Amino acid sequence: MNGRPLITGLETHDIRFPTSRDLDGSDAMNPDPDYSAAYVVLRTDGGAEGHGFAFTIGRGNDVQTAAIKALEPFIVGRRLDDLGALYKEMVHDSQLRWLGPEKGVMHMAISAVVNALWDLKAKIEGKPLWLLLSEMSPEEIVSLVDFRYLSDAMTPDEALEILKRAEPGRAERITRLRAGGFPAYTTSPGWLGYDDDKLRRLCKEAIDQGFTQIKLKVGADLEDDRRRMRIAREVCGPGFRIAIDANQRWDVGSAIAWVNALREFEPYWVEEPTSPDDVLGHATIARALSPIKVATGEHVQNRVIFKQMLQAGSLSVVQIDAARVGGVNENIAILLLAAKFGKPVCPHAGGVGLCELVQHLAMFDFVAVGGSLEDRVIEYVDHLHEHFVDPVVIENGRYCAPTAPGFSAAMRPESIADHTFPGGSVWIADATTALEPL
Ligand SMILES: [Mg+2]
Repeated sequence: MNGRPLITGLETHDIRFPTSRDLDGSDAMNPDPDYSAAYVVLRTDGGAEGHGFAFTIGRGNDVQTAAIKALEPFIVGRRLDDLGALYKEMVHDSQLRWLGPEKGVMHMAISAVVNALWDLKAKIEGKPLWLLLSEMSPEEIVSLVDFRYLSDAMTPDEALEILKRAEPGRAERITRLRAGGFPAYTTSPGWLGYDDDKLRRLCKEAIDQGFTQIKLKVGADLEDDRRRMRIAREVCGPGFRIAIDANQRWDVGSAIAWVNALREFEPYWVEEPTSPDDVLGHATIARALSPIKVATGEHVQNRVIFKQMLQAGSLSVVQIDAARVGGVNENIAILLLAAKFGKPVCPHAGGVGLCELVQHLAMFDFVAVGGSLEDRVIEYVDHLHEHFVDPVVIENGRYCAPTAPGFSAAMRPESIADHTFPGGSVWIADATTALEPL
C-alpha cells in the first residue's frame, strides 16, 4: 500500500428510492418496497474515500443507518490496516455482539463498514476489488476469514488447499473474464406486480438481450403462477432456464405442493421456498423436489447457517449477498465453503447497488476460489444503476469485468442529496403530492 491512510470521518446517509410507486421489486412477501441504502462514507487524511451500504426496503432504514453510526469509534482515528483483524474486532465486540450475535441490523451495519473499508483499500491500490482479491496469496486470503464455528466443516488448511488448487489457472481466468465477462440472469420480467403483457414483452426482451436464464416471482396465488409460468415457458421455449422465487412465502409442505403444481413448466430452481433460518426444512424441500434445485442465501444471516445448509443438503445453489453477512470477509468464508461442498455460487443482486457490489465477489470466486463458470450466473435487475458513479455494464447477457479502482459502491452525490429521507427533493415532492386534494 502507499502508506496507511488515517480514517478521519464516518458519515452516514439514509437514502431511499420511491420504487413502490411502480411496483418494481414487488414479490409475494414484499409487495411495496422502497429500495433503500443505509449508506456510509469513510473519509481519510489523504482525501481517498471508502463507500459502502446496507440494502433495506424502506421503513427501518433509519435504524440501519444508526447502527452504522454506532461503529464510528471502531473506525475513526484508525489507520487502514489489517482488514481481517478489523473485521473480527467489530464482529466479536463483547457488547455489540449481544445484538446478534452475527445476524441482523448490527451485522449488516458491520457489512456496510467492512465493504467501505475494502472500497477504500482497492481505490488506494488502484485496482477493482475483484482483481485486488484475485491477486492476493492463498495465505493472505485465508487470514481474512474467521474460522470460528466452521472447523467441523472446513479448516484453515483445507481452505488453503482450495485456494492453492485454483492458483495455477488464475491468470488465464482473469484474461477470460476481461474478454468475455461473467454470465448474468435477469429478474426484471418476473416482478409479481407486472401484468401478463408486460411479462411477455420483458421475457422476449431478455432473450433478445442475450440472457440465458430469467426468474419469476411466485407464491401469492397458484393459478396466477401457473398462468405466468405458462406464458414465460411459451415465450422462452423448452430448455430455457426459468427460475422461480417465493421469497420465503411457504411452510415446508406447501412449498413442496406448490412447486409440484408448477413442475410441468420445468422451473430450474426454486428460491427461498421457506424461512431462511429453516435448515432442515430446506433439506426436506430439496429432497422432495429434486431434480428441481433449491437456491437460497440472500437472507441467510451468516456463514454458520450456510455451513449447516451445505452439510444438510439444504441447497444446490449458494446465493451470497454482498451486504447482509459481515461484508467481503465473511463472504470469502462462504465462497470457500461452497467450493468445499462443490456447489455453484449464483449471487443475489438487484435492490440498489447490489449488482455493483456482488459482481466483484463472483469474479473473485471464479478466478481464485471456485475456478469455474459452469452453472454460475449473477442476478441482474435493470433498476437504479444510473445513481452509481461506476455502474455495472451488461453486454450480451454478461457482466463486464469492472476496471475502475474500488468496489463500485459509490453513489453519485446528487443522487444521495435528492433521495435522502425525508428531506431530499424526491420525498418532499412526494409529501406535497400527498397533501393535494383529491
Ligand atoms: Mg430472491
